[in-house]
Amino acid sequence: MSDTGTNDVGAERAKSAADPAGFAPRERFAAGAQYIDGGLRAGTSDRDHAVVDPATGEEIHTYRLASTADVDAAVASARAAFPGWAGATPGERSDALHRFAAVLGDRAEEFAQAESLQCGKPLKLSREFDVPGSVDNAAFFAGAARHLAGQSAGEYSGDHTSYVRREPIGVVGSIAPWNYPLQMAAWKVLPAVAAGNTIVLKPAELTPFTSLLFAEAATEAGIPDGVLNIVTGAGRDAGEHLVGHPDVAMTSFTGSTAVGKRVAEIATATVKRLHLELGGKAPFVVFDDADLEAAVHGAVAGALINTGQDCTAATRAYVQRPLYDAFVAGVADLMATVRVGDPFDPDTDLGPLISHAHRDRVAGFVDRARGHARVVTGGEAPKSPGAYYLPTLIADAAQDSEIVQSEIFGPVLVVLPFDSDDEGVRLANDTPYGLAASAWTRDVFRANRATRDIQAGCVWINDHIPILSEMPHGGYKASGYGKDMSAYSFEEYTQIKHVMYDNTAVAKKDWHRTVFGDR
Ligand code: NAD
Repeated sequence: MSDTGTNDVGAERAKSAADPAGFAPRERFAAGAQYIDGGLRAGTSDRDHAVVDPATGEEIHTYRLASTADVDAAVASARAAFPGWAGATPGERSDALHRFAAVLGDRAEEFAQAESLQCGKPLKLSREFDVPGSVDNAAFFAGAARHLAGQSAGEYSGDHTSYVRREPIGVVGSIAPWNYPLQMAAWKVLPAVAAGNTIVLKPAELTPFTSLLFAEAATEAGIPDGVLNIVTGAGRDAGEHLVGHPDVAMTSFTGSTAVGKRVAEIATATVKRLHLELGGKAPFVVFDDADLEAAVHGAVAGALINTGQDCTAATRAYVQRPLYDAFVAGVADLMATVRVGDPFDPDTDLGPLISHAHRDRVAGFVDRARGHARVVTGGEAPKSPGAYYLPTLIADAAQDSEIVQSEIFGPVLVVLPFDSDDEGVRLANDTPYGLAASAWTRDVFRANRATRDIQAGCVWINDHIPILSEMPHGGYKASGYGKDMSAYSFEEYTQIKHVMYDNTAVAKKDWHRTVFGDR
């Protein structure tokens, strides 16, 4: 698409980027962009991948993608590390993760710069959300590692003692998307290794840097070589090879629902444990007693976080008729104040989308909606060499239209009116997805009904977006299954073993008569 807007967004990297902690990917990853067996090495496929700064369109690093042989080497390293790591005491794993959290904290600025550079996300978002969230995750799983409890033991038959062991599964193969590369690495790696598994993580090709830094930090913290390996390769070859690998016991995937279905097919053929965190299309339901100012602010923040490239972003606002016009006007006015610009400029609120191809995809959704819906604000790309798209509000779209039903993954909010409370909740549930949702009301009964009736893995009341290390994140319906973060993620990364001891020391047990002999 062509840039149609009139608001220029500067191509020049803001002066603030000249921070002494600045991150230089060509130097950092001169040795290669695969992290296998405790060190960086070059990929051995026959393809290079150019990482482009989405804010400027400039190439910032080119690396050799992983081959299937690189995946084999990473899996072999993880497999070799498994007995030692699984055999470490919970206290030893916990200590290592505490050190890991400390190293991540010490290197926070480097992580923030790397994340902003590769994703185009405002530095204030990387500094205040992505990086501290990941440090907190590491600290949480350091503590959780010592609380891997099975159920209580007991003499359930009268003649035996039973107890439950919660054990690691083996080598986990994880695949992550580009929207929050550091947090996705943290969500995938930390519960897995806290539980005693070893892991091979494949980040998205577009955004390899912070996953590689994460693995380096793990080594610096004393986590043994091979426990955490990174292969940066293409989905179709390195990704599918990892999912189908016979020595990988579990696949943990975060990404689109379309790719998740393909991953599920391959994983199922080899009977792997499967964890799927997929797409979202979060509803934002505003009842007529809501605090309008809070709802307007919540909608703009919830829709535009990470330039809308957030699986839980507010994408469909359903507003009860009495507040509808004021909500539309309030959101449009507030969106117009959002400062679109260089991610490294401290004044920037909204950075570019991840790539020009993705920007064009987002623009395509909006352009196709123009015939049957009203673009209240935005709906265009500003003049810029970067992959920018303006905050966009769309009204008057039909519930069954593409713009309401499909995941756009950009700074686009659709707003629709509703009349009865039941209709609001019914419309909120009317997409294939069910990752997250919010309801806005001052009425405790309405809030309670909304939390009960909305089909999503997370329902916020009078807020939208916050996440916590202690609380589970994961979907309903086509948004997948399995939970990230929280003690619940241990369910995903452990297997349960029933151990049963005979207490009678009798050779001829009473139950044998059901197989031979008489009482
Ligand atoms: P994507 O599905 O295109 O890619 C995700 C990952 O899968 C990448 O690493 C990619 O290389 C890999 N991949 C692609 N094809 C593959 C294949 N055939 N086999 C194995 N791996 C393959 O998603 P994306 O565009 O990177 O990320 C955006 C999507 O991620 C959105 O749908 C978003 O909602 C979703 N997401 C979900 C969550 C969640 O927690 N539910 C979190 C973040 C992002």
